[in-house]
Amino acid sequence: MSFPSEAAGKRIRWNVGLINAGQDKIITFMKYEILNIANKKMEKTLESVQGDNAMACHATVCSRKTAAAKSEEIAGDYCARTCIHAEMEALEKYMKLVGSALNNKEMKNDLVRITVTSPPCLSCAFVLELFGVLDKIKTTKDVYKGFTSSWKWPDGLKKIADFDPGFWLSIQAGFKDSGCTDDDIVKMMVKIIEGGGGSRVRHE
Ligand SMILES: [Zn+2]
Repeated sequence: MSFPSEAAGKRIRWNVGLINAGQDKIITFMKYEILNIANKKMEKTLESVQGDNAMACHATVCSRKTAAAKSEEIAGDYCARTCIHAEMEALEKYMKLVGSALNNKEMKNDLVRITVTSPPCLSCAFVLELFGVLDKIKTTKDVYKGFTSSWKWPDGLKKIADFDPGFWLSIQAGFKDSGCTDDDIVKMMVKIIEGGGGSRVRHE
């Protein structure tokens, strides 16, 4: 038997205890840390024009590259059908247009600001921190603490190469020796945050 086929047939052993520990680290971060981090990092000087109506939330991205190219404004709106929040839609569009072609540091230099007409929720705050752009947020007031039951993580925001390397490393470290691949970790992280960060998910 040749070596590659042996390697392909090799059974991966997962360590459930270590997988749980990795998940608990994300849950703890969502429960006790992200709120304060977000409230400290965001700029909250945007004038409220619609009573912070989350259902009419609108987000715009200001980027050096798109401004220089005089491209169309990168914007997003809350969508009840897709359950994608305004700042997530705007960030997804920006990553597709500009951000993904840059490394994370270059992306952060290019992205000037994300303006959101009502404060981000905790799930959005988590994703923004994962990309290292929470300090680019300009909104009206502190993070929205209530759990939005049907929040969806956009598919265009799941690429590891786009994440802030430091933050991603700390997530990855939580799963050390668990047998999980990076893809496994991303899938679990997405499910946990889509569930509001309240509980672990089954590892598949
Ligand atoms: Zn949100």
